[in-house]
Parts: sequence; C-alpha cells; structure tokens
Amino acid sequence: MADNQAKETSAAKKFGRGAHECHMCGRKQGLVRRYNIYFCRQCFREWASRMGFKKMN
Ligand SMILES: [Zn+2]
Repeated sequence: MADNQAKETSAAKKFGRGAHECHMCGRKQGLVRRYNIYFCRQCFREWASRMGFKKMN
C-alpha cells in the first residue's frame, strides 16, 4: 500500500510533456479541455475561430 502511494506521488510530480498544459504554447494557466486536447484560453480562442466555431447561446 505504501508502495502504491509512493508511486502515485512520483507520477504526479512528473509534470511536463503529456501533462495538462497548452498544446500550442505550453502554458498551464486557464486551460480549456476540448477533444482530449488542452489549450490555454487564448490559444483555444484562436483555434476555435480557425475551426469555424460559432458562439452558442
Ligand atoms: Zn496556449
């Protein structure tokens, strides 16, 4: 059990590639998750407009 916990802790420390960071600029603030991709809010906005997203009210 103790072993298991230690494993999880070390894994959680392994932030970096594959962690939750913007795929375009690598920022970790204001992340938006869409389609299993993480974008920061700025990049998501750009990406969304490129993809032709429309505002849904
Ligand atoms: Zn970004």
